Amino acid sequence: MSDFSTNRPARVRFAPSPTGELHLGSLRTALFDYLWARHTGGQFILRIEDTDQKRFDPKSLESLMRGLRWMGLEWDEGPDVGGPHAPYIQTERAAIYQQHAEMLLASGAAYRCYCTAERLTEMREAQRRNRQPTGYDRRCRHLIPEERAEREAAGAPSVVRLAVPVEGKTTFTDLIRGDITVDNRHLQDEILLKSDGLPTYHLAAMVDDHLMEITHVLRGEEWLPTAPIHKLVVEAFGWELPVLVHLPVILDPSGKGKMSKRKKLVEGKEYLALVHEFISAGYLPDAMFNFLTNVGWNYDPAIEIFEREEAIERFDIAQINPKAAALPYDKLDWINSQYIRQLTPASLKAHLLPILSRQLKIPQAKLREDARLDILVPQIQERIKRADEAVEWIDWAFKSADEIVYEDPSLLLGRKLDAAQSIAVLQDGATLLPIIEPFLPDEIQAAFRERAAALGISTGGYFGPFRAAISGKRVSPPLFESMQAIGREEVLRRVARGVQVLGTLT
Ligand code: GLU
Repeated sequence: MSDFSTNRPARVRFAPSPTGELHLGSLRTALFDYLWARHTGGQFILRIEDTDQKRFDPKSLESLMRGLRWMGLEWDEGPDVGGPHAPYIQTERAAIYQQHAEMLLASGAAYRCYCTAERLTEMREAQRRNRQPTGYDRRCRHLIPEERAEREAAGAPSVVRLAVPVEGKTTFTDLIRGDITVDNRHLQDEILLKSDGLPTYHLAAMVDDHLMEITHVLRGEEWLPTAPIHKLVVEAFGWELPVLVHLPVILDPSGKGKMSKRKKLVEGKEYLALVHEFISAGYLPDAMFNFLTNVGWNYDPAIEIFEREEAIERFDIAQINPKAAALPYDKLDWINSQYIRQLTPASLKAHLLPILSRQLKIPQAKLREDARLDILVPQIQERIKRADEAVEWIDWAFKSADEIVYEDPSLLLGRKLDAAQSIAVLQDGATLLPIIEPFLPDEIQAAFRERAAALGISTGGYFGPFRAAISGKRVSPPLFESMQAIGREEVLRRVARGVQVLGTLT
């Protein structure tokens, strides 16, 4: 088996159907395609499988490309970049599939079926009533030439079906699952070309994989049951299947169900499912790359954080684990926090800008120039696991004193101090703050410590009321940097409000 994963340059395609927003599971498939293409020095191809017009969603193409590019999965050939096998959008290749369907009709490997939708429904209902397995009864496979000619002359709409051998067995190989054999009796004469002239997946994907010289197909496990049909289709053309790898399904974080198409509550926690949701939540593409690489494959059990290049170097499709795995979202958050720590403050700021701008309702251009951000970002760098958490940490700094809500006024109490004593502390600080020069964290801290000692109050007792007065929160960035960020005047305003609010407790 291992000779399948030698370093022959692979041609690997990601072939999504544009039926909706890009899902995390599909991004994982694309990532494995990409890793394998890069590992072998081959090509990563993007092909759009849009032949099911009923399910087509025009917005999804953009979402797809945006998601792939966000994670840095640049394709070598594809709809927008072109390539030697263009076009890469299947509806633009309709004539190619029609020609290939004709080839199979001519060789007898396929036949035209004129059965109407009504007849097929009746047939299935009868099969159900008689407790027979449902499936096409192959009536049109046995039409005599005159009957066929009659239907053609009447202009009856038709589909093209594969004439599956009625006896014998079909065996195909999956690189990570081994040989799989099915009895042909259990297969259906699947439709290859629909009455609208467009192909089904069974025809289009096989033709394209061949013409585009695809060497490895990595696709979802849900295609496993139809792989024998695919084997028969390529055999009918006299071709060979590429190396097949059916990737395990991804389970939701509880490990109990398949990852749903939408965000979902599992055991009281919300789990995202769509790539654009992860983008908006502010995950870093490098972190997602690192995380997904280890979903179904493993870089090294002892190493959690690795570079893209290292993953490319080691990746091996033969080591993909066929067992379904739950998505460890906590791990993703942890990995993301590690990547956040590696950023320079400037790039962390740039990364946080869109989400902060959205949530704080401040235009990005304005926020970019805001000194408060430059002071606070390094203070939260080790405290956040994802960008959206930054909002909660620093939103207070962008409010005015009277917008701060002291939901729990008791937060304003210094440790071991009552309301009157806490008011005294704030008032004491209010006389001190105007004379601290320069108004910088070290200087403010030194002055505050000195006052606490002089008054015989613990630093926790003295600092606490200020912390709460400034942010209104139980947890906030370090106190003296927070003071520096909003500036002396604003600190004094908030201290005055703190005194007022504490007054309600006395
Ligand atoms: N269009 C198919 C899908 O989105 C592609 C499967 C494949 O990669 O062959 O599931």
